Amino acid sequence: MSALLADRFELEDTLGRGAGGVVHVAVDRQLRCRVALKRFAACDPGELAQFKAEFRIRKGLDHPNLVTLYELFVADDGGFFTMEVVADARPFTAALHAAVVARDEPAARDLLTQLVHGVAATHDAGIIHRDLKPANLLVDGGGRVVILDFGLAMSVRQPDHESSGTLEYMAPEALWGESATASDWFSVGALLYEAVLGHLPWRRDDVHQRFTRVRADAALGPHTWPWLATLAHDLLAVEAGARPTDAALRARFPDARAQVPAALEVPFVGRIGELTALREALAVVVAGSGCVVSLSGPSGAGKSRLVDSFLSELQGRGDVVVLR
Ligand code: ADP
Ligand code: MG
Repeated sequence: MSALLADRFELEDTLGRGAGGVVHVAVDRQLRCRVALKRFAACDPGELAQFKAEFRIRKGLDHPNLVTLYELFVADDGGFFTMEVVADARPFTAALHAAVVARDEPAARDLLTQLVHGVAATHDAGIIHRDLKPANLLVDGGGRVVILDFGLAMSVRQPDHESSGTLEYMAPEALWGESATASDWFSVGALLYEAVLGHLPWRRDDVHQRFTRVRADAALGPHTWPWLATLAHDLLAVEAGARPTDAALRARFPDARAQVPAALEVPFVGRIGELTALREALAVVVAGSGCVVSLSGPSGAGKSRLVDSFLSELQGRGDVVVLR
């Protein structure tokens, strides 16, 4: 893996580390940009398979509130993948706490709206995150909420009946391996409680407390807006079926920006995957074969901008004629 890595990347600062591996800022010499690079030293094939699954499960899913993944590299002794760098990141709980303290209700609602839509988009794709907690939920310097770390994610359709996650934030049913989409919402409830009061409603090691109804409305009420206290209360229902559904949560936090394509807000450097595909297609053509590229995406997503950026790279090349 080291050779594979050194070939193209130059590691810089460490962004963080967790159970799954170490994440660095790295310079991608080939694409001449900075990326976040998550490394994983595999001890057994099962772990390596899990690492590949984290990448693949997410790669097909594009949403402004989910970290954008670029490329996966795998060797016998481990692997790594690249993704966008979430700049000037702080944990979601810290950002929400700051909004509560500053009594900045629009900022708080904006954070919740982004979180709800990011989690719901994950569920729409048939994925349960299973590890929503402050370290996996960042807010960048521009206020964009970014959900990270799909290392424990699994398909809604294939429950594995294995308890996984971070104990502090786990829903009661997840403790015995019955994770569902509602389990992610319980974790969000725990995060909201923590963001407002600075601590969780239970002690880490006391699993039994998780089965006692948390009176989050009463606990949070004096410290924040009623809608936020009520939301945390509803999400912390012990019975998974009693928690608000994805649809109900979307209705509580309508996304005013849904009409504005997310790609317009994301810096253009985020389109590395698509640019790479176009460059590879060009290489095929220059080598003498034909190649057709179909570029699709919602209206306003930045397709023309992507093509313009790609074509601007070709200026001055004698071996290419652009007809448009
Ligand atoms: P693990 O699976 O080991 O928990 P994560 O993917 O959660 O790994 O990354 C560990 C930490 O690194 C995160 O909590 C976060 O602080 C930081 N981090 C990870 N990816 C990024 C990124 N793309 N941009 C900025 N920071 C990141
Ligand atoms: Mg993590």
